[in-house]
Amino acid sequence: MDKSVIKKIRDIVGNKNVLTSREDLVCYAYDASGIESLPDIVVFPGSAAEISAIVQLANRFNFPLFPRGAGSGNVGGAVPLGGGVVIALSCLDKIIEIDVENQYAVVEPGVITGEFQKAVSGKGLYYPPDPASLNFCTIGGNVATGAGGPRAVKYGVTYNYVLGLEVVLPTGEIINTGRKTVKGVVGYDLTSLFIGSEGTLGIITKIILRLIPKPEKKATLLVLFDNIGKCVGAVGEILKSHTLPSAIEFIDRNTIRAVESRFKMGFPENVEAILLIEVDGDSEIVELIKGKLVSVCKNYRAIKIDVALKEDEQEELWKVRRSIAPALLSLKPSKINEDVCVPRNRIPDLVMELERISAKYAVPVASFGHAGDGNLHVNFLLDRANTDELVRAERATQELFDVVLKLGGTLSGEHGIGIAKSPFMSMEVGDTGLKVMKSIKKALDPNNIMNPGKIFEPNWAFFRKSKNLTANSATRT
Ligand SMILES: Cc1cc2nc3c(=O)[nH]c(=O)nc-3n(C[C@H](O)[C@H](O)[C@H](O)COP(=O)(O)OP(=O)(O)OC[C@H]3O[C@@H](n4cnc5c(N)ncnc54)[C@H](O)[C@@H]3O)c2cc1C
Repeated sequence: MDKSVIKKIRDIVGNKNVLTSREDLVCYAYDASGIESLPDIVVFPGSAAEISAIVQLANRFNFPLFPRGAGSGNVGGAVPLGGGVVIALSCLDKIIEIDVENQYAVVEPGVITGEFQKAVSGKGLYYPPDPASLNFCTIGGNVATGAGGPRAVKYGVTYNYVLGLEVVLPTGEIINTGRKTVKGVVGYDLTSLFIGSEGTLGIITKIILRLIPKPEKKATLLVLFDNIGKCVGAVGEILKSHTLPSAIEFIDRNTIRAVESRFKMGFPENVEAILLIEVDGDSEIVELIKGKLVSVCKNYRAIKIDVALKEDEQEELWKVRRSIAPALLSLKPSKINEDVCVPRNRIPDLVMELERISAKYAVPVASFGHAGDGNLHVNFLLDRANTDELVRAERATQELFDVVLKLGGTLSGEHGIGIAKSPFMSMEVGDTGLKVMKSIKKALDPNNIMNPGKIFEPNWAFFRKSKNLTANSATRT
C-alpha cells in the first residue's frame, strides 16, 4: 500500500493505533476457518468518525477494508483477501448503557459477548444468544454473522435481539437504523439488512440490544440412548410436549466415541446417542418440566438420565459438549465441518441420510449440534494427505448440501457464507436471489471496498483450503 496513504490513515487514528510490521500483521491474517491472507496494515479506530474518515480515504484511493471482531468466524469472513486494511474493532469495547426499566442496552461492537451477558445478569437481566465462542467473540461479529447458539430453540438468535444499529456505510456516511422501543415500523427494516451481512455492507459501530428478565432457575439433563432412533424419537416428542426447553443438544455415536477415547468420560460402550437438555424459568415450572422430560426420555428407553440443578454440576454435564471439537481431531487429522440446518422434524431423515452418504463415499461422519432447532454440525473426518479421501469427502459435502435443501433446510444455520461456502450460495438462493443481493451491495458499496471477495465470489480454491484443519486448529464448533 502506498506510504502516503498509510500516513493519512495514521493522521486519522494516531500512530499507536496502526500496525504495519509483518509479525503483527500475521496475527490478523486468519480466522477460525484456517484461511489466511496477509493485510497491508491493521488499524484500531477509536470512534465512528475515525472509521468514516478511513472509509472516505478508501473510496478516494481505492483500497479494500476488512472489518474484524475477534476473528473467531468459521468461514473466512474477516480474512483480508488480497491485502488491504483490517479495521480491528477491539478498541470500541464499551457497554454504553444498560436501561433496566426499558430492558435494552447500547454497546460498542468490540464488547465480548460473554462479558456483556455477565454485565446484564448483574442487573437481573438476560441476553440469551450464546454461541459456543461467547468467551472470546464480539457482539459486533455476532451481529455481522447473525450468530446463534444452543438456546436458540427457546430464545432465538442474535437477529431476535438487535433493535437498532449505528453503521458507517461504504461511502463513509453514518446511518442510525431501528429504535430503542419494543415496537417500531418506520420504513424499511434496515437493521435486519445489516444483520448477517458479514461486513460487506458497512462497519457496525453501535448496537442497541433487547434484553429480557433473567430466568430464576435452570435444570440440565444428560440423557444416554443405546439407539439413535429412540433418541430422535424422544426429540420429536419433547418438541411436541409444550415444555419448550432452552437447549436440546444432540451428539451421535462417532462423536461420543471420539470424546470417550480422548477424554475417558466413562460412557458405557453401548451408548449410540446423547441428548443434553436444559430448561429454565420459575422454580416451580422448571421442576414440572424436568419431570415431564424425564418421563418422555424414559418412554423412549433412555439407558441413563443424569439431572443437575446446581451450576457446578450443570457445567460438569456440559463438559461432553465442550470437548467435542478437540476430540474429533483425535480420530482423523482433518475434518470438513458444515453447520447445516433442517426443519427440526426432519432431523431423523438427515441423520439417516448422513449414514448413507458416509457409507457411499467411505468417509466417516460425526455429527452433533442443536437438535432443538434443526442445526447440526456435520463433520466428515479425513486425512488431507490422502487425495482420494479428500475428493470423496468433498463429494460427500456436496451431496450433503443437496440433501439438506431437499429436506427444506439451509446450508448454514449460524456460521454464514464468507469465503468457505461461497461456491454453494446460488444452490440455495438461486440466480435471482443472488442478483438482488448483488444489486443491494452495488447500491451501498459502488466501489466494492467493503470486505470484497466474500459471499458473492465463489472460490473453490479457498473452499478446499478452509477445510485444511489440523489437530492444532481444533477451535471450531
Ligand atoms: C470454538 C468456536 C465455537 C463457535 N461456536 C459458534 C456458535 O455456537 N454459534 C455461532 O453462531 N458461531 C459460532 N462460532 C463462530 C464465530 O464465533 C461467530 O461467527 C462469531 O459471531 C464471530 O464473531 P467475531 O467477533 O469473532 O467476528 P469475526 O470472526 O472477526 O468476523 C466475522 C464476520 O463479521 C464481520 N464483522 C465483525 N465485526 C464487524 C463489525 N463491527 N461491523 C461489520 N462487520 C463486522 C467480519 O468482517 C466477518 O465477515 C464459533 C467459533 C469458534 C472458533
